[in-house]
Amino acid sequence: MIEYKNVSKIFKGGKVAVDDVSISFEKGEFVCFIGTSGSGKTTTMRLLNRMIEPTSGQILIDGVDIQTQDAVELRRKIGYVIQNIGLMPHMTIRENIVMVPKLLKWPEEKRNEIADRMIDLVELPREMLDRYPSQLSGGQQQRIGVVRALAADQDLILMDEPFGALDPITRESLQDLVKELQVKMGKTFVFVTHDMDEALKLANRILIMDDGKVIQFDTPTAILQNPANEFVENLLGEDRLMQAKQEETTVEQVMLKAAIAITPEKSISEGISLMRDKRVDTLLVVDGTGVLKGFVDVEDINRHRKTATSIGDILRTDVFYVKKDSYLRDTLQRILKRGLKYVP
Ligand code: ADP
Ligand code: MG
Repeated sequence: MIEYKNVSKIFKGGKVAVDDVSISFEKGEFVCFIGTSGSGKTTTMRLLNRMIEPTSGQILIDGVDIQTQDAVELRRKIGYVIQNIGLMPHMTIRENIVMVPKLLKWPEEKRNEIADRMIDLVELPREMLDRYPSQLSGGQQQRIGVVRALAADQDLILMDEPFGALDPITRESLQDLVKELQVKMGKTFVFVTHDMDEALKLANRILIMDDGKVIQFDTPTAILQNPANEFVENLLGEDRLMQAKQEETTVEQVMLKAAIAITPEKSISEGISLMRDKRVDTLLVVDGTGVLKGFVDVEDINRHRKTATSIGDILRTDVFYVKKDSYLRDTLQRILKRGLKYVP
């Protein structure tokens, strides 16, 4: 797990490039940092491999403060790819692929193994390993550039606008490749981009930054459905927002982080264990056809558990809409806006 705890970076001269960032994500996630130029994406990323040291705050990787680790050692464990994945023209494809493994002093046998594996991954013939970049097509070279980033088998890969300079078609096919490889290899990616389509396509979570601050950190679906503010709405643009609204909404999609759908027939104890397991505080009660029947929260359960046996019993005795709790009212309003029926 990777955790930023109140991390700030103030450069000499006083520029606050990263302003009290607190986020965390899990191994195997694909996280995109997005924001306008100068919003602090690169700095936030470089803090992770200690190319930049924070002014304040902590970064933990698997619970260990990276400041307590040897910086060189740390950097070995983290892949880093900057813009423009050019291959070295005077080196063979094999030499290009194993550049970092060689720096890490892997034995030759292991380097050859990984070269084979990488060329297989991009579905190019192994004979190509001993050719030079100029003997490959542009597209083939780009694909090699992408797998090269994975060759050292690091668990965490940082990519800073790697496809920024490419034409849209090449870009899209490399995005597909990165996504496919990430899923196949289960690595954690932090990927900086200023392109919303790229972020929406690649990420399972997006960090939206502005002026060094976290504006929103959530899944693409959640961001599209509940943009945090006008800034995010503008970043998404009207077309995407309209499209997101028109897309058919299932109960799963409208579930907020804190709520989970459950049918009224479920017993109270099933409801409680679901809340505990999924760490939610609210149950969205829906019938078999996806019609929303109401909400049940922890308080409701505590109040009625002695007299009720099913979740439906609680709904029948408690009228959720008289609640003062604005969170629930807002949730309901958002759900209704997305076209889910509510039947009292
Ligand atoms: P992004 O990657 O989102 O374009 P950066 O993280 O590169 O943004 O930069 C964030 C802010 O910090 C910008 O205003 C930039 O000018 C400033 N900055 C970046 N690096 C330095 C540095 N080494 N010294 C001073 N200011 C810097
Ligand atoms: Mg940058």
